[in-house]
Amino acid sequence: MDNEKKIPYKIYLEESEMPQSWYNVRADMKNKPAPLLNPGTHQPMTAEELSGVFCDELVQQELDNDTPFIPIPQEIRDFYKMYRPSPLVRAYCLEEKLQTPAKIYYKFEGNNTSGSHKLNSAIAQAYYAKKQGLKGVTTETGAGQWGTALSMACSYLGLDCKVYMVKVSYEQKPFRREVMRTYGASVVPSPSDTTQIGRKILAEHPGTTGSLGCAISEAVEVAVSNPGYRYVLGSVLNQVLLHQSVIGLETKAALDKYGIKPDMIIGCAGGGSNLGGLIAPFMGEKLRGEANYRIIAVEPASCPSFTRGVYAYDFCDTGMVCPLAKMYTLGCDFIPAPNHAGGLRYHGMSPVLSQLYDDGLMEAVSVPQTAVFEAAEQFARVEGILPAPESSHAIRVAIDEALKCKETGEEKTIVFGLTGTGYFDMVAYEKYHDGKMDDYIPTDEELQKYRAKLPKMD
Ligand SMILES: *Cc1c(COP(=O)(O)O)cnc(C)c1O
Repeated sequence: MDNEKKIPYKIYLEESEMPQSWYNVRADMKNKPAPLLNPGTHQPMTAEELSGVFCDELVQQELDNDTPFIPIPQEIRDFYKMYRPSPLVRAYCLEEKLQTPAKIYYKFEGNNTSGSHKLNSAIAQAYYAKKQGLKGVTTETGAGQWGTALSMACSYLGLDCKVYMVKVSYEQKPFRREVMRTYGASVVPSPSDTTQIGRKILAEHPGTTGSLGCAISEAVEVAVSNPGYRYVLGSVLNQVLLHQSVIGLETKAALDKYGIKPDMIIGCAGGGSNLGGLIAPFMGEKLRGEANYRIIAVEPASCPSFTRGVYAYDFCDTGMVCPLAKMYTLGCDFIPAPNHAGGLRYHGMSPVLSQLYDDGLMEAVSVPQTAVFEAAEQFARVEGILPAPESSHAIRVAIDEALKCKETGEEKTIVFGLTGTGYFDMVAYEKYHDGKMDDYIPTDEELQKYRAKLPKMD
């Protein structure tokens, strides 16, 4: 117990203790994630093909399954210093409230204006675009966190940034939109009439409020048809998980400083980038047989890619212009029910995490959204931070695991990722408070319908 007293509420690293390289977990995977395929030929995408869409250096990172450590360029490390290291917080107040013998820690990524971990990859992707001498980048954003992060990174480096924002969010989240514009980005509601695919979707589905898959198609079209532009994506891709490994490396360094060994590591999973980053060094130890951890992905019951999806090649976007990725997927046309307010609404999952999950190296659970908001509120009231709905999926399961410890008396050490803050999600909180939130869960028949549209592979 004496030793325990020495653990501060917040464990910070010194600047000199911050990671100097990203860690590429693929290097330690026996079964590598399946390659991206050309949607026309079904052959693995070559570096040359990918370089029409993505920046050259990012293509190299995307395809590199072998290099374990990739140095973080000095410019990116300097940018990280503006908001990193992020604190690893011992949730003493939550433990007290739950009366659990479990020790709970969370890695808080919400301490920057974009309000989430997404800035870790946004600055890296913008940096490589700048280094290549490009004029700008295009992307999509749903709730707006990624678009905000990318706008911040682009304005810092003097790059043009075009964001296709899912129309319903564009209309419902005007504040996010204005943050992006403050950082100089141009923000277009998607589907729009600025692209061929947008015009096609508008003609086929007049009045549609858009989807992530559709916004991706638009952003890719603009990137490939404008010289000096490339497309960037905020999750799912191998390169994004690589950049996000900074979360896990810092977490591990902070825990090691105090000799703490976690029993389980929990994170929410949308496209898998924060979870992939958080678990990276721990999974590395697990893969190399040096340590064992329970690793738990948490997803919404209304968008259950891991727990009810299939592991198959699928399109990453509605317009079917992107490469095919082998991943746990619900089908590229899947859109969660309109009442779903908790984010994490992408139909697929990172190919790296999909392979690790398929190999039985991690677990996944799905949780209904009212239980997520209940956990969010409980957390906010004792720990102070108002969590993003996405992050609150991890809070829910961390609390559930801590309550199990209360029953068994086990002093397990739980680490979870608190990916961001929820100030722009107050409409969702309002629904919850007003009792207007329900827990619609898709039926097997519905899921089957989307699954039927998976590309036929031979
Ligand atoms: C985008 C986002 C997520 C989900 O994305 P992943 O790629 O699965 O990490 C989770 N939390 C917050 C706050 C986000 O902005």
